[in-house]
Order: sequence, then C-alpha cells, then structure tokens
Amino acid sequence: MVPTVSLSFLNRGKVKQICRVCHEIAELKPDRLCAVCVRIKAQIRSRFPDAVRGTMTIPAEQCTRAGCSCDACGVRTLDPHPFYPSASARVDRRAIHFHPRCHELWIEAVTGLVTHPDPSIDIGQG
Ligand SMILES: [Zn+2]
Ligand SMILES: [Zn+2]
Ligand SMILES: [Zn+2]
Repeated sequence: MVPTVSLSFLNRGKVKQICRVCHEIAELKPDRLCAVCVRIKAQIRSRFPDAVRGTMTIPAEQCTRAGCSCDACGVRTLDPHPFYPSASARVDRRAIHFHPRCHELWIEAVTGLVTHPDPSIDIGQG
C-alpha cells in the first residue's frame, strides 16, 4: 500500500495556458483563445458580417497614429497598427482600425483560418 499518491494535481481540469493570440495566461477555450479574445472575435463577427462573408477584399495598411479606437475591442491603440481605409462601400465609409492582436482575430474571423503562433515566420525577402 502506498498512501501518499493522489490525483489532486489534476485540479478539476482548470489548467491555465497561454492564449495563442494575446499570450495572456488564462483558462483557454477549445479554440486555444482566452475569454477576452473569444469575446473580441465574436464582436468582430457581429459588427462586420460582410467581411466575415468574404466580401471585403481590400488589404490592410499600416496606421502610425496613436489613439485610434480599435473597432474590435473598443480600446485605444498606442502603437502602430493595421487598419482598413474603407471596409464596406455601402455602409459608412469609416476606416477600421485594429490592435495588432485584434487584427489577428479579425483575420481568423474573416478567413476562417487559424493563425499559427510560429515565431519563426519566413518573410520571404529572398
Ligand atoms: Zn487572448
Ligand atoms: Zn489607426
Ligand atoms: Zn483591439
């Protein structure tokens, strides 16, 4: 008999992991996103249904202003970030600004693809 071993380390499955988009340590959803990123992604889907349907094809550009309001999470930006000059021709022609991390969620939402958290991305500048 070995009385000291127990399975309490399993801790009811509440394992904290690193969110693959914002890199916060949190309990992750099946998507490997934290609750905040899941909410932002859902917000993108509800705010920009045209883009999610794939009807928005303009490329992202780099915005160097500070203090833009992020259209995914509503928080102001502090650093250079991606933006779309005009997302939709028929609704209002306002530009859409994102935090870099929110833009990753945007890309996932509009492409249905999951970005890979690979730090060794080959830029391909042969
Ligand atoms: Zn996150
Ligand atoms: Zn901006
Ligand atoms: Zn944001």
